[in-house]
Order: sequence, then C-alpha cells, then structure tokens
Amino acid sequence: MNELKKSAAAFSKAKKFMPGGVNSPVRSYSSVDCNPPFISHARGSHIYDIDGNNFIDYVGSWGPMILGHANEKVVDALKKSVERGTSYGAPTELETELAELVQKIFPSMEVMRMVNSGTEATMSAIRVARGFTGRSKIVKFIGCYHGHSDSLLVNAGSGAATFGVPSSPGVTANTAQDTIAIPFNDVDAVKKIFAECGEKIAAVIVEPVAGNMGLVLPKENFLPTLREVTKKFGALLIFDEVMCGFRVALGGAQEKYKIKPDLTCLGKIIGGGLPCATYGGSAEIMRNVSPDGKIYQAGTLSGNPLAMTAGIETLKILLDTPNFTEKLTQKTSRLVDGLKEQAKISGVAVQIPQAGSMFGIFFSEREITNYDDACAANQEKFKRWFKSMLEQGIYLAPSQFETLFVSIAHTDEDISKTIDAASTAFTA
Ligand SMILES: *Cc1c(COP(=O)(O)O)cnc(C)c1O
Repeated sequence: MNELKKSAAAFSKAKKFMPGGVNSPVRSYSSVDCNPPFISHARGSHIYDIDGNNFIDYVGSWGPMILGHANEKVVDALKKSVERGTSYGAPTELETELAELVQKIFPSMEVMRMVNSGTEATMSAIRVARGFTGRSKIVKFIGCYHGHSDSLLVNAGSGAATFGVPSSPGVTANTAQDTIAIPFNDVDAVKKIFAECGEKIAAVIVEPVAGNMGLVLPKENFLPTLREVTKKFGALLIFDEVMCGFRVALGGAQEKYKIKPDLTCLGKIIGGGLPCATYGGSAEIMRNVSPDGKIYQAGTLSGNPLAMTAGIETLKILLDTPNFTEKLTQKTSRLVDGLKEQAKISGVAVQIPQAGSMFGIFFSEREITNYDDACAANQEKFKRWFKSMLEQGIYLAPSQFETLFVSIAHTDEDISKTIDAASTAFTA
C-alpha cells in the first residue's frame, strides 16, 4: 500500500473547514487511530484513493452500492437524466415509477412519501405515528440507529456508539423523555414497558435486523412479540429497513420473517447511490400526511429526478436479475465461511454474523445478541485486524459497530484475496 501522503494533506485541509474534516463522523477514522484514505473514484467492487491505492470495498458507501460502484446502466440513465435538468420541485412520472417498484417489493407500503435521507424517513415516520395515534412516547432499542433526529438520538448505535455519545448533547431532556430505550432482543423488557405505559406509546421503532451496533440478528420470538404487543395496545410498529431492506431478502426483514409492520422506512439502496429514502405503510395511516391529511412533511429536493432515476434503475436490476438475492447471499456466505475458517486456523475467537449480503465481525467468544454484548467484544483486536486489512488493500468500516456489505460486483477473486488477507490480519 502506498503511504497516505496526499490523503493526509487533504485531511488536514478538510479539518480547517469541517468538524473532524468530514461530513459524517465515522469517516474520520479516529476510532482506529489513522488517517482516512481520500477517495478519487470507484468502480465495481473497487475503490481508489488519491494516493494511488486500489482497495476491495466492503463499505459500499455504507450500504447503498449493492450493484457495485458506477454500474453502467445506472450511470447511463443518470447521464440522460442530468441533461434534462437536475431539479424541478414539481411532480414527475419518475416518482410514481419508483414508488410502484418499491411497492412491488414491499407490498406493506401501500402509500409512501419520498424523502432525501434515512434520517428524514424515520423522523417523519415517528411524526406520523404520533399524529395518527395521538400519543407521544416512542420505544426504541439500545444500539439501534435511526438517523440523527432528536427523538431518535437516544442510546443510538453506529457513529454515536463508536464515539461513545449514544445520547447526544443538544437533545433536550424533554425530547429524550419521550423516547424509551430498551435492550434489543429482550422480549421481557418489551412486555414490561407496555404493561407500565402501553396506552401512551405511539410506536415501536426497530431495525428488524440490527446493523448499527455491528450486525445483530433478531432472536426467533423478538419480532413476533413486537407485532403482537403493539397490536394489542394500539401502537404502531415501524420497521426501519434503511439498511436491511433489499439485503436480508429482496423484500427486507418483513419478507424474511413474515411480519407486516405498520410503517416501513427505506433508504440507502433505494437511491442507488444518490440521496433518497422513503417511508410508507397502509393507506389508512399514510392518508393522514399532508396534503391528504394534517400531518405536515415536505422537501424542496424530495423526489429529485436524478435520485429517482438511480433508484429506478437499481431496483429494476434487483427485480429483473434472476435469483439476485440468492446469488449475492451465496457470495457473502463464501466470504464469511472463509473468514471463519481463517480465524479458527489462527486460534482467534470471533463472531461473524451474516444476514443476506450483510456481515459483521466481533472479536468475542460469545454470541452477540445486543448492544452490551457488542460493547464487550475486543475493540483493540478489531483495530489491529482493520489496519492490517487496509494495508493489504481491503477497505472495511473502521468500527466493529458497523456492518459490512458485499455487492453483486464482488468477484470470486476479490473474495479469495479478502480471505487470504484475513489470514495475515488475524495473526497481526
Ligand atoms: C443509515 C441508517 C439511517 C440513516 O440514514 P441517513 O441516510 O444516513 O440519514 C437510519 N436507519 C438505519 C437503520 C440506517 O442504517
């Protein structure tokens, strides 16, 4: 690997203008005590930095790049779209086309609204849940991340967990007080909180497959319990599938676990690498959103034609490629099995959970079922492993509290190289 000289210079300059030199905290690499490579371009499964390094990419822009970078069809469609103007602030047929594709894959989303980020989608879904039920309290799970809006930045995962500020300064006590955070996978805690104040709870929001405290799978009875209890008490169940949608199954966790939530949030993949997200659910609930109803939510760039175009092309490929999800899951399994084998040979205790094309790695002897377990894993070992992988040309998320992603562009050779690198990294 070339020394990160140009990247280091670019980073010092960036730091003058932006907190930590970045526009999203985890990108700063401060959790792994090194400078981040500054990126020049990316293609397929590879990402290239300004120092001339070429990495195999398992970050995939933190999830969206399920087709790999610069997919030809997506790029061609974007080129044509950009020639027609970049934003109108007026309705287009593209928005309906994307909504129709989303509904085909997520039938529970009868009516939906396009927004620009996952944060907006979850924030808006919470407002709809409160407006619809006339209640104020929200239940979330410790270590789940639902973007950075105030009421959801309480005991949050992802960068918030990496930087040890799970509840952020600037979130008022009044706001935080309406958010009840309980451990993931803990059905007793769910039942208990509903028994105490179930009639005040507007919604339970959950990452049905949690990807922001590292990857943590739901235990068998967890999601069914959420469905049952929310229904009983008249609260809404919100599946935040911004990360796991299109990945754990094409139709997300709701398809895989056969549970119909009241509201769903999608993001990341739905924009095909451009800023786009959506929230939606039954017509009964969603018709309360303005201008059909009184719950207000809007956006200057919402439904942006470029974002719609990238989303449409991406979803069409997912739908039209025979066995897309199965193939991608198999690729991921090959990688995960290889990593497990290398860890075993090196005598290193790891947990490498997988869900579809998502996987994670914890240096731990115990299975990871919630945020406390994740925190107990050995982060020093992770850091050493991460650095060795980077030096060997493998680009991973710089924190054990993140999930890694395989794209359809990853080749057998990429995966073999990654497994080889891991054998060195495990003994680093
Ligand atoms: C990434 C993510 C979000 C936030 O999306 P942004 O586009 O970063 O605002 C929300 N929920 C989940 C589960 C996510 O993974």
